[in-house]
Amino acid sequence: MIVVGGGLMGMLSARELALSGVRVALFERRAMGQESSWAGGGILSPLYPWRYPAAVNDLARWSQGAYPELLARLHRETGIDPEYVPSGLLMLDADQQAAGREWARAYPTPLRLLDAAELRVEEPELAPDWRQGCLFPELGQVRNPRLAAAVRADLLRLGVSLHEQTPVESLLLRAGRVRGVRAGGRDWHVPQVVLAGGAWSAGLLDASLSTPPVRPVRGQMMLYRIAAGRIRHIVLHGGHYVIPRRDGHLLVGSTLEEVGFDKQVTDEARAELTAWAGELFPFLRGESPVKHWAGLRPGSPQGIPCIAEHPEVTGLFINAGHYRNGVVMGPASARLLADLMLGRKPILDPAPFHLFEPVSA
Ligand SMILES: Cc1cc2nc3c(=O)[nH]c(=O)nc-3n(C[C@H](O)[C@H](O)[C@H](O)COP(=O)(O)OP(=O)(O)OC[C@H]3O[C@@H](n4cnc5c(N)ncnc54)[C@H](O)[C@@H]3O)c2cc1C
Repeated sequence: MIVVGGGLMGMLSARELALSGVRVALFERRAMGQESSWAGGGILSPLYPWRYPAAVNDLARWSQGAYPELLARLHRETGIDPEYVPSGLLMLDADQQAAGREWARAYPTPLRLLDAAELRVEEPELAPDWRQGCLFPELGQVRNPRLAAAVRADLLRLGVSLHEQTPVESLLLRAGRVRGVRAGGRDWHVPQVVLAGGAWSAGLLDASLSTPPVRPVRGQMMLYRIAAGRIRHIVLHGGHYVIPRRDGHLLVGSTLEEVGFDKQVTDEARAELTAWAGELFPFLRGESPVKHWAGLRPGSPQGIPCIAEHPEVTGLFINAGHYRNGVVMGPASARLLADLMLGRKPILDPAPFHLFEPVSA
């Protein structure tokens, strides 16, 4: 079997298949895990999960259950620590509290409403004008570039052949079936192919075929270095967030921009994110960001990924379109894909993930 794309989705898919005894080759046009899977934040929850449909919440919930064991196992087997931190997520949006509480009842999730005094205890550096918050103490984060490095090492251990710096140029199709791929100047023949090319996933399908509705959505992120522990939780307000890593790295994100395949960073985003961070944590006004980058999320309608066999090409499977939540939905998506490919009972109803745009006339 061949997997196209070495982001988290391609790598986790390859891992699931390899663990089921399948021989897998993975092709990545750059190095593994350097696109959206590197650029993202690694929050192990959708932001404002109540704004997403059940399909997204169900994948996230399954993955949240699987992550502690998966991360411990990857650390043990590869020696690379993906730095899982159950830091809790503190939401400051007063107008989202009612919806948050309702969601926490539907998807049983511990939640604490904090008054001003409790906020000071939980997050002492927060500006004093913030007077209430909603803490989800069990939501956590993973350091996504390290997660990708650990999964890559695990794939090697499992005998998956990794072809980096090897773009797949085209799919080999005949009589309504996939026959393999063309990559690195030669044809590779296999009966099943997984397309997990992130924001680029629709590009390998020609105009005569239905495509998964995936488009690039740029997200910019800033990085600060502060004393470890000075900010304790993921803190969310107005669609932006801070993510404190264990070692004092602090991510501030992110933007949502429909600018095609453009990964440039902008002064506007830098100004917006630094101003926002300074409003929450005044000490950050005296700090300069040490890095600023952009990644291209695989955007999709309502953030629901396409995890399905192509309707017109037998043997061609898609795992793409995870938008803002690919890290948290990754393990469940990979398992569901492997279930479909191997004819097993799926972990979730696959119907909501069969998403293709018909060929336009
Ligand atoms: C700023 C930002 C913040 C984010 N924060 C979070 C978060 O906190 N939590 C969360 O869950 N998610 C988050 N995300 C979303 C998450 O990062 C993505 O949903 C996820 O990484 C998508 O993984 P992927 O493997 O589909 O795509 P990618 O990581 O983009 O991987 C696709 C890969 O396919 C390769 N490829 C493409 N075409 C070809 C080809 N023809 N041949 C070979 N290889 C090819 C690319 O080079 C790339 O490596 C964030 C994203 C961004 C940008």
